[in-house]
Amino acid sequence: MQSRRFPVFALPGRALAVVVAVELATALLVVGDVVRVATGAVAVTPHHLATAGLLTAAGVLHQEVSSRVERYRSRVASGSGTAALNLGSLWIATAAVLCPTPVAVAVAVVSYLHLRCFVYPAHANRDLYKIVYSASATLLAVHAASAVADGDVTLATTVGALAAYLAVDTVAVVGVVVLSGVLKIRDLPRLRPELTLETALLCLAALLTAAMSIQLWLIAFVFPPLLLLHRALFVRQLELAARIDGKTGLLTAATWHELATAHLDEARVRGRSVGVLIVDIDQFKELNDRYGHLAGDAVLAALARTLRTTLRRRDAVGRFGGEEFVVLLPLPHTAPGESARAELGTVAERIRAAAEALRVEAGTGPEPVVIDHVTVSVGGAVFPDHGHHLLDVVAAADAALYEAKRSGRNAVRLAKRRPAPAGRAGAEQTGRQADRDR
Ligand code: GH3
Ligand code: MG
Ligand code: MG
Repeated sequence: MQSRRFPVFALPGRALAVVVAVELATALLVVGDVVRVATGAVAVTPHHLATAGLLTAAGVLHQEVSSRVERYRSRVASGSGTAALNLGSLWIATAAVLCPTPVAVAVAVVSYLHLRCFVYPAHANRDLYKIVYSASATLLAVHAASAVADGDVTLATTVGALAAYLAVDTVAVVGVVVLSGVLKIRDLPRLRPELTLETALLCLAALLTAAMSIQLWLIAFVFPPLLLLHRALFVRQLELAARIDGKTGLLTAATWHELATAHLDEARVRGRSVGVLIVDIDQFKELNDRYGHLAGDAVLAALARTLRTTLRRRDAVGRFGGEEFVVLLPLPHTAPGESARAELGTVAERIRAAAEALRVEAGTGPEPVVIDHVTVSVGGAVFPDHGHHLLDVVAAADAALYEAKRSGRNAVRLAKRRPAPAGRAGAEQTGRQADRDR
């Protein structure tokens, strides 16, 4: 119960230790900043205050101008499983190079408070620990950059400071994401777009630093390219949302079909086998009726995660619609015939067993409900044994799924092996046969 209200306590031990260490270190550093300002140990000039004031105002203005797009973008991003990125690091990192540490910290704090209180007020209470942690990581990055720059704006200090900012912020955030088990190390390349954007923002910060070292008002020139970057990002995330199913993070049916067709074309040229599995949750309507649709959605998301971890990277997993998933498995080392069927059967059985072992915590009331009786039925078919075209193979897998349901559910059935007649006429006959099986 407690871990539900304060999900930070639900983190695995090592991740929790890093979160606490980063937040504690940040808190100590910020207290040190306050003491240094209070005792006059830091020389803050009117020029520093003007620089910080302009960067803060620009950050707030930028967030206000882009807030409508940003709110929508973050909603689209959370649905498609990609993280929404805050472009505010441009202003904060620039402040870290140009201003003394306590002043740069103040710019970051105002920027975060404005973002959380006015831009995303509806999110303010959601996952509070993530917001606090990401702010701490940013403040730690500000300290690192500021320590490297040390009040000296040269090419070397600017590049070094911005690199330190990027390294500290990235390691702190990605480290906890990996330690908490949300992402595996082998999945890290998926974060490349976010890292590319952050690097681009810091390059812009280097230009802004140089410009503001000449004249503060040159800050105005950074707005048009920044707003353009924001728009471009938004379009990219819309494209992603069309490819990825929001509820499960899997491919949409149309994208899966496109990918599967390409795989089949390649397998046809190379004389290889490809397996297709259709996975359907058993009695899902009953589960929805008993626990509610939100719990049903949690089961869909959990099963999607199970499918992704059970399968290999090169397998294409899609949501066909409702509670039906579809998997395409290239079988490059398996000649068509019994061995392809056997390999497909092994994978299908692994999926069935993983679903049976699933425990889903669904928060439908004051106490979380644990749903631990999810089962699936799986139907499978192999290209070219059961059809020469994608639709034929899918139809044969669907017929096998129907058999699995009829046998009492929580079962795997593969399409029967039949001799494949040669030539185009043979391919068409295979398709008709699959239809007759239904
Ligand atoms: P069977 O074992 O024969 O597959 O029975 P079933 O109840 O799983 O199949 P049926 O086709 O009768 O019901 C599918 C249900 O899936 C009905 C629908 O409300 C539910 N469903 C479809 N899409 C979603 C969704 O996105 N979220 C939730 N929670 N339920 C969904
Ligand atoms: Mg079903
Ligand atoms: Mg169904």
